[in-house]
Amino acid sequence: MSRIAENLIKVHQQLEINAQNAQRTANEITLLAVSKTRPPEDLIEAYQNGQRDFGENYLQESLDKIVELKDLDICWHFIGPIQSNKTKAIAENFTWVHTVERLKIAQRLSAQRPTTLPPLNICLQVNISEEESKSGCLPEELPALAADINGLPNLCLRGLMAIPKATNDINEQKAAFAKMKALQLELQAIYPHLDTLSMGMSGDMDTAIAEGATIVRIGTAIFGQRQKK
Ligand SMILES: *Cc1c(COP(=O)(O)O)cnc(C)c1O
Repeated sequence: MSRIAENLIKVHQQLEINAQNAQRTANEITLLAVSKTRPPEDLIEAYQNGQRDFGENYLQESLDKIVELKDLDICWHFIGPIQSNKTKAIAENFTWVHTVERLKIAQRLSAQRPTTLPPLNICLQVNISEEESKSGCLPEELPALAADINGLPNLCLRGLMAIPKATNDINEQKAAFAKMKALQLELQAIYPHLDTLSMGMSGDMDTAIAEGATIVRIGTAIFGQRQKK
């Protein structure tokens, strides 16, 4: 068995255990394979072992892979920072965007989403640890942003995404993810269809699932250590 196939089995087992511990079912949690910097062969390997959702950060690299792998039934998620001049290609080529943090980007994505495709699924990125250098809107900006974006025609607002400050302290991880869950609950009171919490990476997947993640974004644990770009 290949290393990627073995890793996928391990991650699924871990996800299953985490779900059970949280009295949740594993099938309410989507495993998103984060494939930035990986060659198409690695994605094919994962695909042949049942993986369907892939997350990419860098637009040009992802477009090359989307073309090369167009015959596979892959659901593509954009999870990188978005500049305005990139919104058209993102709107045309992805099913999900996890990293929307301001209205202008959402408006462009909506205007540029081909109407022949279903609405683009959107998560609002929250700077949950309120780090100065980090992407995402602040928690207090969420209500207004959600209200504006929820009204855009070719988008479907699905929920929230965060990359909390990296830490090995489980209590700190837990606090950040619990804050995300609380923000989701607040928004759900107004928008009951917001079913998504995109949070948890290879180093903190367990805690994220315990706190309510519905999409975990896993790179290293599936594909191994990334080479520096
Ligand atoms: C790279 C990346 C991941 C995956 O990180 P790993 O630690 O390799 O699992 C998840 N989310 C985002 C936004 C990323 O950029």
